[in-house]
Amino acid sequence: EPALSIRGLTKVYDNGFHALKGIDMEVPQGDFFALLGPNGAGKSTTLGVVSSLVRKTAGEVRIHGIDIDRDFSRAKYQLGVVPQEFNFNQFEKVEDIVLTQAGYYGLSMRECKDRCRQLLEDLGLWEKRNATARMLSGGMKRRLMIARALIHRPRLLILDEPTAGVDIELRRSMWSFMRRINAEEGTSIILTTHYLEEAENLCRNIAIINHGEIVENTSMRDLLTQL
Ligand code: ADP
Ligand code: ADP
Repeated sequence: EPALSIRGLTKVYDNGFHALKGIDMEVPQGDFFALLGPNGAGKSTTLGVVSSLVRKTAGEVRIHGIDIDRDFSRAKYQLGVVPQEFNFNQFEKVEDIVLTQAGYYGLSMRECKDRCRQLLEDLGLWEKRNATARMLSGGMKRRLMIARALIHRPRLLILDEPTAGVDIELRRSMWSFMRRINAEEGTSIILTTHYLEEAENLCRNIAIINHGEIVENTSMRDLLTQL
């Protein structure tokens, strides 16, 4: 079964705005998938529904076959999420933020220590492990959220604009980190971006969303031959 399957997803916000107008989307297992589109298209809303941060109006979402309405607690184990906004406790230490997350998945901190160290090293944060999160730069906070999202080895990683506001050198090193997680751990990755270049560099398949509708759903290779 696919890593993610979305059918007829509709979102009407409380103010009556139709942010998603019945979208269908499928992400195969092991894929590196980009959800592209201009600001306001509905990318964050889509990923928000998948990660249960946004309540949907209608439609069906399955993560590795598990219907999130029926069994979100089981679906969430499959899932790592990096939202756009920093949502960790700014006064907590870097290492503790990652290890505390492990506890939410029923993993003991002891069994996650090595994994935590590896992630912080790979993301260039190990030297900062005892720093309070508020002392980190924006790019480091973003990487901290990525480490935290991966601590329980999710099968599907969701990244909302992971490199927004990050300089080109750092973006390249984040790209190679994401590629490695996808290739070596077999983690399916979905990211939103408005940089076509980012999708081009990383992704096998893409969907383009505009005004709450999927206007294109194809392989990156086919998209590039069309341009
Ligand atoms: P994207 O991530 O593609 O930039 P979003 O999913 O954040 O787009 O937003 C899609 C549309 O829904 C935008 O027009 C946005 O203004 C609107 N929107 C987002 N959140 C809310 C909300 N809480 N209430 C009303 N409208 C919202
Ligand atoms: P910014 O000020 O743009 O937020 P940071 O302070 O977060 O940037 O980045 C500090 C440095 O950490 C960058 O110059 C980057 O090259 C470096 N770095 C080392 N290893 C990594 C890594 N694996 N991923 C991302 N950045 C890394």
